[in-house]
Amino acid sequence: MDHIFGPVNSRRLGVSLGIDLLPPKICNFNCIYCEVGPTTTFTNTRGEYTSTAAIIAEIDAYFADAEAVARLDILTITASGEPTLHSGLGAIIAHLKQISTKPVAVLTNGSLLYLPEVRRELAKADVVVPSLDAARQESYRRIDRPAAECDLERLIGGLVDFSREFTGRCWLEILLARGINDAPEDLAALAVAVERIQPERIQLNTVARPPLETFALPLSLEQLRAAATCFQLPVDILTDRNSLERGSDKSEVSGRQADQEDILHLLQRRPCPADDLAAALGIQPDRAAALLTRLVASGQVKISRHRDRDYYVIAPRERDQKSADRPPA
Ligand code: SF4
Repeated sequence: MDHIFGPVNSRRLGVSLGIDLLPPKICNFNCIYCEVGPTTTFTNTRGEYTSTAAIIAEIDAYFADAEAVARLDILTITASGEPTLHSGLGAIIAHLKQISTKPVAVLTNGSLLYLPEVRRELAKADVVVPSLDAARQESYRRIDRPAAECDLERLIGGLVDFSREFTGRCWLEILLARGINDAPEDLAALAVAVERIQPERIQLNTVARPPLETFALPLSLEQLRAAATCFQLPVDILTDRNSLERGSDKSEVSGRQADQEDILHLLQRRPCPADDLAAALGIQPDRAAALLTRLVASGQVKISRHRDRDYYVIAPRERDQKSADRPPA
């Protein structure tokens, strides 16, 4: 399956089936901390970059297995890029709501929430996690490296409108990188923006996995805790050991033994240490290690050292091949 991955054990969301709308990497940002790799299609234009019908067909194929579906807590729409750029987003959310009572979550960089049609499409979701990494122009350009059309004031205005209209749960994610967007004036500007947006919670994050740029450096837990005090809303601090997709001790979430394809699908979206990967897929660490060893030996996966941890990442040739295998837009 090209567009469905997991399920993974997500600390915040539970057992989550990932639905990836875009091939790597169509985005209107090129964030210095991105885990997917450099933006190859840099666009702010919505389009049917992958066939909506093909994504829905994959979803239907997955949902034919009632036993696998019964184990899911949530369906999470994401992308190897920005999911709201996919013009079929609304149809896909509507389809999920039609065939299932499971809650639907959407992860987005928030840049297109200024568009009423995007807000309307997302209105059917249950949880939306938009991002806002900076509220000062200079820092926004440094950390997110947005397309020229992605105006910061318009982005914040879109978040304000969305948060006001949305009846589900809106959790605002803020990612801080050392020396890039964590100065006192950055935090003060973010605090003002957050006051306007009024999300239910803030998810404070830092550079946890191997980033696109080596100069994207993490904050320490103490620095994140200090930054959290700037906000008047509940703040969850997400760190390397406490991140969105950090696993629980559940086993065999998919009801079958995970295989090399499951690992490749997960690594296609983000680099992972072996223990995180085992937890996310709900498999024993020794099985994860054995599968990873085979993937490394075959050249499909390589090891990247980051902050004293070994991360498994998709080898560039495998990533290119996976993109080439996808149907053209
Ligand atoms: S982190 Fe998200 S928004 Fe930023 S470049 Fe990567 S895919 Fe795009």
